[in-house]
Amino acid sequence: MFQGLSEKLQETFKRLKSKGKLTEADVNEAMREVRMALLEADVNFKVVKDFVAKVKERSIGQEVLESLSPGQQVIKIVNEEMVALMGGVSSKINISSKPPTVIMLVGLQGAGKTTHGAKLANMLKKQGKHPLLVACDIYRPAAIKQLEVLGDQIKVPVFSLGQENPVKIALASLEHALSQGLDVVIIDTAGRLHINEELMGELKDIKAAVKPHEILLVVDAMTGQDAVNVAESFHGDLGIDGIIMTKLDGDTRGGAALSVKAVTGCPIKFAGIGEKLDAIEPFFPDRMASRILGMGDVLTLIEKAQEAFDEKQAREMEQKLRKQEFTLDDFLDQMQQIKKMGPLGSLLEMIPGAGKQLKDAQIDEKDMSHVEAIIHSMTQEERRKPALIKDSRKRRIAKGSGTSVQEVGRLLKQFEQMQKMMKQFAGAPGMGMMGKGKK
Ligand code: GDP
Repeated sequence: MFQGLSEKLQETFKRLKSKGKLTEADVNEAMREVRMALLEADVNFKVVKDFVAKVKERSIGQEVLESLSPGQQVIKIVNEEMVALMGGVSSKINISSKPPTVIMLVGLQGAGKTTHGAKLANMLKKQGKHPLLVACDIYRPAAIKQLEVLGDQIKVPVFSLGQENPVKIALASLEHALSQGLDVVIIDTAGRLHINEELMGELKDIKAAVKPHEILLVVDAMTGQDAVNVAESFHGDLGIDGIIMTKLDGDTRGGAALSVKAVTGCPIKFAGIGEKLDAIEPFFPDRMASRILGMGDVLTLIEKAQEAFDEKQAREMEQKLRKQEFTLDDFLDQMQQIKKMGPLGSLLEMIPGAGKQLKDAQIDEKDMSHVEAIIHSMTQEERRKPALIKDSRKRRIAKGSGTSVQEVGRLLKQFEQMQKMMKQFAGAPGMGMMGKGKK
């Protein structure tokens, strides 16, 4: 996410920090670099101009330049202004006190509307809501089927009346939700390749009929400033309450995410970060700014961990660690839990300062699957007592897992080191690794 921008800004900041004292010329030079980096990331020209002017004005004040760590102060200002640029606080969706809450998803074809309808439903379901997905895209023949398949995957009901009039479908879905006790209705509307009157007319009709609590525009971050233009048009014509910015996992330069709030006044409420149905995050401007500036995003990381690990399992694992009963099977378990948190690359980006170094170290998800295969090729006894594994067993395991004797040896060595480390943890009172984070 935003790699190019992030790397350039971090280089500029490194130079700033290395200087003990800053002059106005230093700040000007740094701001020129910031401006270039933002423009290259496809941030809207006017947004860049205002942003740089604000940061410069605040940075050139005497207080900053004469402070003990002027470089740090300037970075702090850039961070604050970047958070403000993206809307300051995180914006939640309007949940109506009188169910069902109606959410209408709009956007151009291919932006990720249908996928994000399902992601949103999945997320709300995890939060204890009972969503209904509604298929109002009657033009694209596969759209209804696509929604049904996705609904099936996440076990959320899908309401459809085939090619019936979309307004009728939307209205009927509300009654259906009421009768079934479903409290959130997510309407997937039709997209078009381009904005046109027919599309807007239809969306306005649905809006007038169902009076949604929330109209969310789905835009594709990869389209850069086009996404911002699309948002401006939709907001002007239809009025939207928020944006779902999709495909932020791709090779995006970040321009759309950084400009859209400033240009349209509409906040990004969710970010789509992959094709899988759990690849959606609430959008937090402060966390996003931290990631862009290479300061990591520990809060999101913790939330992901809390979702992936259940508390009981964590407690059992802690017991095992304390009693030094941690086996290769447990190791495998832990690895699978971590995989549930999302792609490794995106997790690494959230670790403060570690993003770039670790990325350069090229952590390979294939390595993880090798480790899994190796452990699966061991007998239960071997997993409990890895010391049993001598040369001939190593050869058997390597063959069974399609890896090499060296890889098996390396894993055993790493596991042994891990056990040694755990002994030290277990020996120190109050140092249970997992216990520390427990509520
Ligand atoms: P719609 O026409 O707006 O309903 O778009 P779809 O939901 O059918 O999505 C279009 C394509 O984009 C599909 O292949 C999705 O898998 C893909 N897609 C959607 N959201 C994301 C995302 O956040 N990241 C990535 N990498 N792909 C996505």
